[in-house]
Amino acid sequence: MKEISLQTRSRLEMIDITAAVQKAAREAKIDSGIGLVYTPHTTAAITINENADPDVPRDILAALDRAVPLSSNYRHAEGNSAAHVKSSLVGASEMVMIENGSPVLGTWQSIFFCEFDGPRSRKVIIKFLG
Ligand code: ZN
Repeated sequence: MKEISLQTRSRLEMIDITAAVQKAAREAKIDSGIGLVYTPHTTAAITINENADPDVPRDILAALDRAVPLSSNYRHAEGNSAAHVKSSLVGASEMVMIENGSPVLGTWQSIFFCEFDGPRSRKVIIKFLG
């Protein structure tokens, strides 16, 4: 198991962690296998999407914010229900194939950590099978 620490800087943020996943695969000496990229937080998520155009992550965050507004008739007293809902919609993990020590991704794809209730200190855990 490999752990990545992150410090997010804003309420909503998508951080490209592809290079960190690649580094973790090399450190784990995984040449060919599977990596489960998981975040142990209830107001964050992991997703794979386009990173070539920075407007794509921006649009994803804006669309999620429109779909799940900050305030509504939420009951959760902590006041961050919107972030919990976004976390469940996007999901806490992604599974990626590893070949030649690198995640197998399309030309425009990156692995993102999604912050929905920042800024906070966050962790990503990666379990490799290979
Ligand atoms: Zn909460």
